[in-house]
Order: sequence, then structure tokens, then C-alpha cells
Amino acid sequence: MTLLQTEQLTKQFGGLTAVDEVDMEIEQGEGVSLIGPNGAGKSTLINLVTRRLEPSYGDVSFKGESIVGMDPHEVVQQGMSKSFQTASVFPELSVKENATIAALAAEHGSFRVNFFRHRNSYPAVEELTNDVLRSVGLYGERETQADSLDYGNKRRLELGIALAAEPDMLLMDEPTAGMSPDETQSTVELIKRVKDELDLTFLLVEHDMEIVFDISDRIVVLNRGSVISTGTPEEVQNDPAVQEAYLGG
Ligand code: ADP
Ligand code: MG
Repeated sequence: MTLLQTEQLTKQFGGLTAVDEVDMEIEQGEGVSLIGPNGAGKSTLINLVTRRLEPSYGDVSFKGESIVGMDPHEVVQQGMSKSFQTASVFPELSVKENATIAALAAEHGSFRVNFFRHRNSYPAVEELTNDVLRSVGLYGERETQADSLDYGNKRRLELGIALAAEPDMLLMDEPTAGMSPDETQSTVELIKRVKDELDLTFLLVEHDMEIVFDISDRIVVLNRGSVISTGTPEEVQNDPAVQEAYLGG
């Protein structure tokens, strides 16, 4: 089943075409990496898919239905989450409270409006929250205030917050940016583990090719807003167009 599809998806900023008629499909269960030189349009494409940006033209469908016109939180309710976003963490709340809010917000759209109406389903939410915290390795820290987590655990919480929404698809834009080699390694292991455990479909932007080759079923290469190659890591690595884009400047 096709989970995500873009058709002729385009974003212009003034005279600059950052994303240029991109046709892309992601199947359920696939782990896909989006790569390309700096300024290729990777973040713009992610922001179009998650509805943080309005396309100039073209379409995005999720589970067979167009999501253009939806708000970002509606897209989350449809089953698409973006991690790692520091902005999604409430620093003064505990790990568990953060994950609980994320679970409730995804289920009911607006946490503030609906919380009390759905309080009878709280045991289910609590079970989900505990499962998520176990899979990201934070169960033992569930009472810890988010603010006092170390760097690696903060990133785990950011992933947990995304997973608490029970996404069918997870989007990640350079999750290892700014991490030490050890933190990078444990984040990569974490992503691999949740992919296997939860059969998660993901779209990952990552510049470290070692990680990309390690983690991806398929790679999509973007250059100057256009898809110039797609295939298995091996196919993409051996594609002259890709070598030219990276080396030719
Ligand atoms: P990448 O993530 O692949 O490095 P981006 O998607 O961030 O690339 O940017 C693609 C191009 O669009 C770049 O030339 C960038 O300067 C431009 N761009 C991105 N966001 C904006 C914006 N909000 N306004 C104007 N130009 C932008
Ligand atoms: Mg970027």
C-alpha cells in the first residue's frame, strides 16, 4: 500500500524554485532517506509534506487522500508525525506527562478542548504511554522532569513524543545534527529498533552517508529541488548523476 505520494509538488520562494515538481511515493513499511547537497530542498519538501508550508502547486496524499488544505495537527491525526522537535517538549513537565499529552493531542486534535471528554479512556492512554517510553528506553526516567534529562535522553523523549501519536509514518529532518558520535550511534540504533518493533514507515533527511546506507531500504536523491535518482543504497551509490551532483558542485 502506498502511504505517502507527492505529485508535481512544487514550492517557489520568490524567483527560487526550492522544490520542483517532485513525484515521490513511499510504501507502507519502507524506510526511505532523502539526501542531497545543501540547499537541495530537503527541508522544504518535509515541511510541505507535514503541512508547515503551503505548496505553490502540486499535491500530497497520505493513505490515498489529499492532505493539502489540512492543518499540521490534522495531518498528525491522520498518522504522520515529525520528530525530533525540541519545540514539542514541555520542559517543566515529567517525561511521562510529555508523552501522555502527545498521545492525547494526537487522538483528539486539540488537547485543551477534549481532555475531559475523553478521560474515561485514560487507562488505554497510560498503557500506550508506558509502551512508548519502554521502546525509547525512558521508562526508568518517566518521573524525571524533561528539563533535567541529559542530551541523549532529551532526543529519546522527542522521539517518544512523536511515537505517542501512534504514527503510521515518521518524518525526521537531520535527527543527528549536533550530536556527538556516541549520541549519533545510539540515535541510529534507536531508530532501527523502533522501525523493527513498530513496523514504522519513515522518511529521514540525513547527511551522514554511513547512517543513510545503514538505515534505509531506499534512497531518494534531491538536487536543486528535483529528484535526480531513487533506488536501493547500492543503486544510488553507483548512479553517475548522484556522483556528479555531489562532486560537480
Ligand atoms: P536543504 O534542507 O536541502 O538544505 P532547504 O529546503 O532548506 O534545503 O532550502 C532549499 C532552498 O530554498 C535554499 O536555496 C534555501 O535558501 C531556500 N529557502 C528555504 N526556505 C526558504 C524561505 N522560507 N524563504 C526563502 N527561501 C527559502
Ligand atoms: Mg535542511
